[in-house]
Amino acid sequence: MQQVYEFFQRLTDTSDWPPRWFCGRWTDFHGWLYILSDLAIWFAYMAIPLVLIRFILVKEGIPLGRVFWLFGAFILLCGLTHLIDAMMFWWPAYRVNALIRFLTGAVSIATVLALIMNFKEAVGLRTSNEYEQELTLRKQAVQELTRSNEELQQFAYVASHDLQSPLKTIENYLEVLQRRHGDQLDDDARRLIGVSTAATSRMRTLINDLLDFSKVGSSTEFTDVNLNELVAEILDEQQNEMQAVEATVEVEPLPTLKAHRTDLKQLFQNLISNGIKYRRPDVPPHLSIRAENRGDAFEFTVSDNGIGIERQYFDRIFQVFQRLHGRGEYPGTGIGLATCKKVVEIYGGHIGVESTPGQGSTFFFTLPKVIKTVNQYAQTNSLHFAD
Ligand code: ADP
Repeated sequence: MQQVYEFFQRLTDTSDWPPRWFCGRWTDFHGWLYILSDLAIWFAYMAIPLVLIRFILVKEGIPLGRVFWLFGAFILLCGLTHLIDAMMFWWPAYRVNALIRFLTGAVSIATVLALIMNFKEAVGLRTSNEYEQELTLRKQAVQELTRSNEELQQFAYVASHDLQSPLKTIENYLEVLQRRHGDQLDDDARRLIGVSTAATSRMRTLINDLLDFSKVGSSTEFTDVNLNELVAEILDEQQNEMQAVEATVEVEPLPTLKAHRTDLKQLFQNLISNGIKYRRPDVPPHLSIRAENRGDAFEFTVSDNGIGIERQYFDRIFQVFQRLHGRGEYPGTGIGLATCKKVVEIYGGHIGVESTPGQGSTFFFTLPKVIKTVNQYAQTNSLHFAD
C-alpha cells in the first residue's frame, strides 16, 4: 500500500532515472529513428479515434456504438504509450509511463471483452450488399402488395358502384308497386314490401360504407387540414341527430395536419357518430375530443359516456363487419371502425380502445406530425447518408 501511495505522490518525479538518451549507447540515427517512429505512430493513433468520433457523430443510429467508443479510447491510449516513449528520451517519467500503460492494458482488455460479447451481434449486422438485396426484395413485395391492393380497391369500388344501379331499380319498383297497387294488396303483402324496402335501404348504406372503406388512402392529394374546423363541420352535419338525443361534445384545441381531408373526416366522423349512437338509455351522450403532443406524433382521444365495450371485444370491433349488437338494437354496418383503423394505419399510427362496460369508452389513436404513406417513404428515404 505504501508503494502505491508513494507511486502516486511521486507520479511526475523523474529524479530516480536518467533520460533515455543517457541509458545505454544511442547513436543519433538510432535514437531519432526510435523517436520519430514513435511520434509518427502516436500521430496516426490520434487521428484514427478522431475519424471514428466524427463517423459516430455523423452516422446516426450506428450499431454497436459503445464498442466504437471503447475502440477509440483503446487506440488513443496506445498512441499515448508511444508519445511517452518518445518523450522519455528527455523526460524519464517512468511512473507516468507505467500508469498510461496500465490504463491502456485495462481498456485493451475491456475492448477485447466487448468485441467477444458483441461478436454475435456484429456477425448479424448486414453488409451494404445484403441491405441492397433486402431492399430490392422489399421493393418488389411493396410493388406486389400495392398492385393487389389497387386491384382489390378497384374491385370493391366497381362492385359497390355497379351494385348501386340494380339496387336503385329494385327500390324504384318497390315504390311503384306500393304506390300503384298498394290498395289492392292485403296487409301481409304490404308488410313484405315494407321489409324489402328497409332491406334495400340497408344495402344502400352498406354499399356506401364499403365504397368509403375502399377509397381510404387512395388519394395522395394532401392539404393542410385544420382539425378544429373539420370536427366543427362534422358536428354541424350531425346537429339534428345530436339535438334529438341532447348530445354534448367538448372539443379541446386540435392541431392542423397535412393529410387527405376525406380520410381524416371519415376517421373522426365514425368515432363521433359511434359515441352518439352507442349511448346508454336515458343518459344524454357526452363526448370529449382531445389531442396531446407526443414527440413526433399526436395522440388523439375520443371519449364517450355510452354503453361501453367488454375487454374481450377490444380487437374484434376494428375488423370489417364485426358488430356486437343486432341491427334491431343499434343500426350499423360494422365498417366504421375498420375504416378508422385503415386510415390510422395507412398514415403510420395505431388505434385502440379502453372501455368500462356501462360507463363509457375512450378510443385513442396516434397520427405522426409528418404523415407519409409507404409510397412517399420509398420516394424520399435513402439508406445512405449524404453529406
Ligand atoms: P357499426 O357502428 O356500423 O356497427 P363500427 O365498426 O363503427 O360499426 O363498430 C363496430 C362495433 O363496435 C359496433 O357494432 C359496436 O358494438 C362497437 N362500438 C363501436 N363504437 C362504440 C362505442 N363508442 N361504444 C360502444 N360500442 C361501440
